[in-house]
Amino acid sequence: MHELSIIASLFEILEEKAKEQKAKKIVSVKLKVGALSGVVPEFLKTSFDIYKKETIASGAELEIEEVPLKVQCQKCGAEITKDDFIFICEKCASRELKTLSGTELLLEKIELEL
Ligand SMILES: [Zn+2]
Repeated sequence: MHELSIIASLFEILEEKAKEQKAKKIVSVKLKVGALSGVVPEFLKTSFDIYKKETIASGAELEIEEVPLKVQCQKCGAEITKDDFIFICEKCASRELKTLSGTELLLEKIELEL
């Protein structure tokens, strides 16, 4: 499962940050997940809950902010939020679309207890 390896590397970062700050525990973690990132938020949550046991984040909540896919037409300049993944401009039918957001997978915030 793709999500499990993402969570494994997430925990490497978390443990490093906690050590840096000499934190007692991690309270919450927030991720930004793009619609086009190829990651299923639900699987991320499940993986997180499995992985966090016996770690400094055992009581931590995982919050996921889903980022919709947003594109800009290179021909007419229209900005479109897509809920399908069909890359055609709705205004002028151009296929020259630039992705503005929706591909990210970011660690947005970590809340630590010191
Ligand atoms: Zn267009």
